[in-house]
Amino acid sequence: MHPFVYARATTAQGAIETHHLADSPREAPSVRARSQYLAGGTNLIDLMRLDVMQPELVTDINALERTPSGRIEYGARGLWLGALVKMSQAADHPDVAANYPVIAQSLNLAASAQLRNMASLGGNVLQRTRCTYFRDMSYAACNKRSPGAGCAALDGVNRKHAILGVSDRCIATYPGDFAQALIALDAVVDVAGPSGSRTIPFAQLHRRPDHTPHIETTLQPGELITAFVVSPLPWARRSKFVKVRDRESFEFALAAAAVALDIADGKVRNVRIALGGVATVPWRARSAEEALRGQPLNDDTLKAAAETAFAEARPRGENAFKVALGQQTLIRALRETAEMNL
Ligand SMILES: Cc1cc2nc3c(=O)[nH]c(=O)nc-3n(C[C@H](O)[C@H](O)[C@H](O)COP(=O)(O)OP(=O)(O)OC[C@H]3O[C@@H](n4cnc5c(N)ncnc54)[C@H](O)[C@@H]3O)c2cc1C
Ligand code: SF4
Repeated sequence: MHPFVYARATTAQGAIETHHLADSPREAPSVRARSQYLAGGTNLIDLMRLDVMQPELVTDINALERTPSGRIEYGARGLWLGALVKMSQAADHPDVAANYPVIAQSLNLAASAQLRNMASLGGNVLQRTRCTYFRDMSYAACNKRSPGAGCAALDGVNRKHAILGVSDRCIATYPGDFAQALIALDAVVDVAGPSGSRTIPFAQLHRRPDHTPHIETTLQPGELITAFVVSPLPWARRSKFVKVRDRESFEFALAAAAVALDIADGKVRNVRIALGGVATVPWRARSAEEALRGQPLNDDTLKAAAETAFAEARPRGENAFKVALGQQTLIRALRETAEMNL
């Protein structure tokens, strides 16, 4: 691990000011940025140990747990999840489990109990890909680590790589689960930075790889996520997260579906769908939603929606199985959500 300066902040403003001390010129948050915030550290420290990330300054933001960023609130304006809330706290919160089961399940099905007790919600959505070539410094060809170096995964071992949102520069899968629940529920992200605070749709937080896979989000230099906000959505009580993986726990998704369903008179009045384990970014499947609205849920409509969701898939070698797996995962999620006893 490369030497670094450790600093601790107790307020969001203090964190932003400290974070900037190492950045000259100002760098957008990326794997290469010289200044990094430290929350649970379960991703950052891991990558620092591997030398994939080599920040000069690490600003510990855990004391922000004692600010609104450490709180969960549920009321008429919906759900507020502070960015420093631990994954386990949010997963076990009764208001989250009752009103947005898809959120609680996405968190509970992630990582291990120990990791969920350490890891924060903010760190979770910003975790980096598990692409082996990215994590192993002995491979030079990784555009995400070294822009312009190539991509070893394109013609390499790519069974776990993405089939949606890919580019010819990077096919790394976005690894998180919670993000699919947030994007399905149209959540927004509160961000604080050197130029003030702003709120952005969660759907605009992550960037597809395109020509710049090393820039993964739309966050500006020094910006800190302070909270996630989900509007009230009474029918989200009928929601579910289905995750398929190589082993039943402590494993990332090969395919996942976050679904919320509003059914009346046997027909789909409204539906939200997001897909995990198959895309380079948290993936909202709007075309599948459109295909289902106003329809009954039966074998034909489910199949049509699943095919639509993967119409743009670009498999590459070993990951071709993810098209069928992703479709079946979505169909299963929709069926099981429809069958929930409320
Ligand atoms: C073996 C293993 C299995 C796992 N399985 C899963 C899984 O199945 N599903 C899943 O979703 N995850 C899984 N994870 C990932 C784990 O959930 C993440 O490592 C964790 O959520 C990251 O949160 P953290 O608080 O530790 O982030 P950190 O490691 O502290 O930070 C991660 C990144 O986010 C930045 N950051 C953190 N907080 C903020 C903030 N508020 N504002 C701006 N930037 C911030 C940091 O600077 C850093 O770049 C697994 C991890 C391991 C090690
Ligand atoms: S898929 Fe992306 S992260 Fe993996 S080697 Fe290629 S450029 Fe790097």
